[in-house]
Amino acid sequence: MSDTPEPSIFTRIINGEIPSEFVYQDDVVVAIRDINPQAPFHVLIIPREPIINAYDFTEDNAHIGGRMMLAAAKIAEQENIKNGFRLLINNGKDANQEVFHIHMHMLAGENIGPMTIKDKG
Ligand code: AMP
Repeated sequence: MSDTPEPSIFTRIINGEIPSEFVYQDDVVVAIRDINPQAPFHVLIIPREPIINAYDFTEDNAHIGGRMMLAAAKIAEQENIKNGFRLLINNGKDANQEVFHIHMHMLAGENIGPMTIKDKG
C-alpha cells in the first residue's frame, strides 16, 4: 500500500473523515487498532501533526516523539498489558514504510518474536 504525503489516511481518520475507534487520544496523539494486526494487540500511535517519519524530527517537534512514547505507557496501563510490548517505527524505503505519516506500532499479547528478518535464521 502506498499513500500520498498529505492528507494521509491517518490525517483523514484523525479529522473524522474516515470512521475509526480511538483506543486512546489526547491533544497530541491518537491510537487506533491496526487494520491488519500482527499480534493479538496491535495499535498505531499517531501524532495529530503529520510528521512524515523520524527523518522529519527537528528541535521544534521532537517533543512529539516523547508524547508518542508517553502514550504507549498510558495505553499499556489502560489495557492492562503486563508482560511487555514492542514499539516499532518504520522510516522510509528500506523499512517498508507504507503510510507517510509517522506512526508507532505497539504490539503485545504474546511473544512478539524476532526483532528483524535476519533474526529468523
Ligand atoms: P507501515 O507504514 O509499514 O509502518 O505500516 C502501516 C500500517 O498501517 C500497516 O500495519 C497497515 O495495516 C496499517 N493501516 C493502513 N490503513 C489503515 C487503516 N485505515 N486503519 C488502521 N490501520 C491501517
